[in-house]
Amino acid sequence: MIKKLLLGAMVSAISTAALGHGATSSSFEPDTNRIKSHLFFLADDLLEGRDTGSRGHDIASLYIATEFSKYGLKPMGTDGYMQSVEFRKALLEQESPAFTLSTDEGEVSLSYPKEYLTGPSLLNAASQVSGELVFAGYGIVADELEHNDYQDLDVEGKIVVILSGKPKSFPSEMGAHLASGSQKARYAVDRGAIGMISVTTPTAEKVRPYQSRLSYIHTPRMAWLNEDGEPANSFPQLKGSAFLSEGAARQLFKNAPVSLDEIYAQLEEDKAPKGFALPGTVNMSKKSKHSQITSPNVVAAIEGSDPELKDEYVVFSAHSDHIGFAKTVKKDNINNGAMDNASGTAVMLETARLFSQMEQKPKRSILFVSVTGEEKGLLGADYFAHNPTVPVEKMVADVNLDMPILTYEFADVIAFGASHSDMKASVEKAAANAGIELSPDPWPEQALFTRSDHYAFVKQGVPSVFLVPGLKSKDPEVDGSKVFGEFLSTHYHKPSDDTNQPFNWDAARTFAEVNAQIGYTLATQEQKPKWNEGDFFGETFAKDRQ
Ligand SMILES: [Zn+2]
Repeated sequence: MIKKLLLGAMVSAISTAALGHGATSSSFEPDTNRIKSHLFFLADDLLEGRDTGSRGHDIASLYIATEFSKYGLKPMGTDGYMQSVEFRKALLEQESPAFTLSTDEGEVSLSYPKEYLTGPSLLNAASQVSGELVFAGYGIVADELEHNDYQDLDVEGKIVVILSGKPKSFPSEMGAHLASGSQKARYAVDRGAIGMISVTTPTAEKVRPYQSRLSYIHTPRMAWLNEDGEPANSFPQLKGSAFLSEGAARQLFKNAPVSLDEIYAQLEEDKAPKGFALPGTVNMSKKSKHSQITSPNVVAAIEGSDPELKDEYVVFSAHSDHIGFAKTVKKDNINNGAMDNASGTAVMLETARLFSQMEQKPKRSILFVSVTGEEKGLLGADYFAHNPTVPVEKMVADVNLDMPILTYEFADVIAFGASHSDMKASVEKAAANAGIELSPDPWPEQALFTRSDHYAFVKQGVPSVFLVPGLKSKDPEVDGSKVFGEFLSTHYHKPSDDTNQPFNWDAARTFAEVNAQIGYTLATQEQKPKWNEGDFFGETFAKDRQ
């Protein structure tokens, strides 16, 4: 799972209820020895944490392709099972960033990284921008919410200064999309801005203090390269960007028509601060080092049995990459990613085998996509969603597996995103067939629907769910939400997410079974999944799909 602000809120108390079996028999019988073998292989130290582009991840990919081949699945990559993706990797030269504010009162230089942060540029080895400043609230334009931070502002040829985050009143998942970095860049670029400066807010400090961001300054940025060798999803119009600490923001807002304190006070009351021109100009520059890496998605299919519906695909996605070596740990420095996401990949492989064994295949075809670069920003999935090996409109649903915690016998599953489409009913039915129930998203404020690989499919209009074991435990002694919280605080993205985790193979069996049931239901039901009427994601991304 991609690193963001998972912790805090996720540990919030969700009561546990021990449930009995919903005893419905099923035709899928997952083999826990196989799941365990996949997981232990993928999470072995020899694979060195499966970093995107590393030899360890290449071996993982070959393993996955070999398993697909063993089950007789159809290769659906661009080179057999493999779909190789070119990436550019950019590293910031840590000595290079410069930021100067010039006003009537003189020049002030901010110090990196103490007072402000900036990331590497994926486009230019040397970047520089200077311009006048315009404050534009949160920098969001959302017609659906009658919100326009750029109203009456002229930012053409200027640097926009925006608040980190989004208004409190925005619905969480929709808000996560609208306030994402790439959306904010788009709103700015569409209006002619040439640079973007984000400033922290009291809320942002609470969720992710400036100090905690300092541990990520050496993190590279990556993007997949299009046919012209250009980084995808990038904005060449923006020549510079920065994230300002509160102290640095105060320098920028000194002598501003509205003080930073007044703006912060407006945020408290959830009022949208009005934009205005800020005094002075800013000059920003930095240097970035570029390299190119290649890393594969692995893609395979099981052909459906219906002569017409077999052209439609139910997609399973799971990321195979993890984060490689830990830089700050000396002894065991391998981030094995046993739960993130060797477990999801192992379950997907067993699901593929179960379908391959069925005498009567489901009507629709099933596509298994093992994606790379998830930890770098859902990159492999985004590449596949933009360059699918089957027509994008023929992908009728995506079921994503990422970081299922398989250490207790859960009595329910959570399908993030289920409330956006009629997949909710399908998942509910499939879960019941596997003897468990579907629970609503326990952390709507975390907007997890926008935080793993399925979201790349959502952005191409494909109705999707992100499936994880629920927090209800069959064992009254076990509190699922506590187990989950402890995993996040202790092992998540750390070398201890390894095979010493107390795996419960019955849980793995149940998860594989419910996963297969969902795929079967979606691939067999008469109608393909549909976005709910008027749903924001359907309206935004699936307008052209019939
Ligand atoms: Zn992760």
